Amino acid sequence: MPVTAETQAALARADEHSAHNYSPLPVVIESGAGAWVRGIDGVEYLDVLAGYSALNFGHAHPALVAVAREQIGRLTLTSRAFQHDRFADFCSDVARLCNKDAVLPMNTGAEAVETALKLARKWGYDIKGVERERAEIITFTGNFHGRTIGVVGFSTDPDARDGFGPFPPGFPSVEYGSAEALAAAITDDTVAVLVEPIQGEAGVLVPPDGYLAAVRTLCDEHGLLLIADEIQSGLGRTGETFACDHESVVPDVYVLGKALGGGIVPVSAVVANRDVMDVIHPGQHGSTFGGNALACAVGSAVVRLLETGEYQELSRDLGEHLHRLLAELPPDRVSEVRGRGLWAGVQLAQGQPSARVICERLLARRVLAKDAHEGTIRIAPPLVISRADLTWAVEQLADALA
Ligand SMILES: *Cc1c(COP(=O)(O)O)cnc(C)c1O
Repeated sequence: MPVTAETQAALARADEHSAHNYSPLPVVIESGAGAWVRGIDGVEYLDVLAGYSALNFGHAHPALVAVAREQIGRLTLTSRAFQHDRFADFCSDVARLCNKDAVLPMNTGAEAVETALKLARKWGYDIKGVERERAEIITFTGNFHGRTIGVVGFSTDPDARDGFGPFPPGFPSVEYGSAEALAAAITDDTVAVLVEPIQGEAGVLVPPDGYLAAVRTLCDEHGLLLIADEIQSGLGRTGETFACDHESVVPDVYVLGKALGGGIVPVSAVVANRDVMDVIHPGQHGSTFGGNALACAVGSAVVRLLETGEYQELSRDLGEHLHRLLAELPPDRVSEVRGRGLWAGVQLAQGQPSARVICERLLARRVLAKDAHEGTIRIAPPLVISRADLTWAVEQLADALA
């Protein structure tokens, strides 16, 4: 399917006055419902990226759209200077989902990560008794936690870091997947460990069995907070509410984002028990839009969807189907398939075209996918995708690889 002149013109127009911090595939989308979107070329495309898992419930989920519409007409923002009538429910809904006491709402994922880091440092000084200005939070190779200066400072990806320093100190990085490496890096100044239960941007890297449980044990032994960045892995993507659930690991701090806003508004949150959360006092942290009425209404509706358990089940069932189909791809084209639930990183074999080229071929076959790292195609469709559409998408991938 060739890129139409109209699409070319729209892309050129966007290029003219936008920063060039992305290199999007040549498609311009005008509408969407469920797992499908329509381009301005009139073509229907199957979305198997789902906004990096911000669209776990699909485009324009009727229940979420209805809540958002109603709320937009009534009240959207008060700022946290005044309370609004959606705030209490949102906080108790998210706390219940996480089985924790308290919720600190923010907007984007990166802000929530920064919030969790501030919380952990304050807890380290006020409760653990680490000497001021010395707190360390251990991070991992291949991590992705967003794009702020603080967060890219401990990225191990040169593209994310280079040219943006100087960075705040106190974030040593250790090998992901190795409990021994983590144990060796813990010092008297360590206050927390920040981990993705599955590394999404690194190419859907699933750590070895037992790793998260070992991290939990080390945190317990050394009195460290375990902060789980479940922004991409959480809220149904892996077949459980949280990726940590697969190892029955309960972190001290959950960081949530992406799907929490239902693909409608940015909603993120840091969730912890009182003994941790209460180290932050009025005036010490905040956000103008964090916890706004529209975000809270949509976020609560997202929790209601997750509490039915339907979406986790869809992710499990469809994920099994997806991984069975992907396992049949020829080994001279695909060297490895990683992932859990409805989430897969398809590693291209040596000598294959780049993941970007395969994604361009998929676009021509009406499937929207995105490369993760150089040789990885990420498959993470909305959890509402039909089994037939999922099968079709993998057929298109097989064709694109042939
Ligand atoms: C997307 C993502 C973030 C950053 O979220 P933004 O909303 O883009 O700031 C942080 N952590 C993980 C694991 C993510 O996937």
